[in-house]
Amino acid sequence: MEDKVCLECENPIKGRSDKRFCDDACRNAYNNRRNSDHNNLTRKINNALRKNSRILEEVLGNEKMTKIQGEALRKKGFNFEYHTHHLHTSKGQTYLFIYEYGYLPLESNQYLIVKNKLEK
Ligand SMILES: [Zn+2]
Repeated sequence: MEDKVCLECENPIKGRSDKRFCDDACRNAYNNRRNSDHNNLTRKINNALRKNSRILEEVLGNEKMTKIQGEALRKKGFNFEYHTHHLHTSKGQTYLFIYEYGYLPLESNQYLIVKNKLEK
């Protein structure tokens, strides 16, 4: 019979084979750590999203749409990894959105920046 080990302390577990922890203290320690990892990741992504949307807001100003070089966005700290949703237009274009601000990759590393309201 194979020895099961505790997910937290990795000591062998005695008793019922469906146990994953040796005791409540190990279970709690494991779950707390996992939750805090989850919270850290969530916070990191939320911060990146907020920053991205702030940057697009700033770039757009009072315009309906504007163009900017990808390098300029990056210099402002824009993180191209994170967005909230896609928007596909009838023209076959795909805008990436961060909340109400969206961008469309154009040629020559340019990006078209827009606010909300694009549907149809
Ligand atoms: Zn344990």
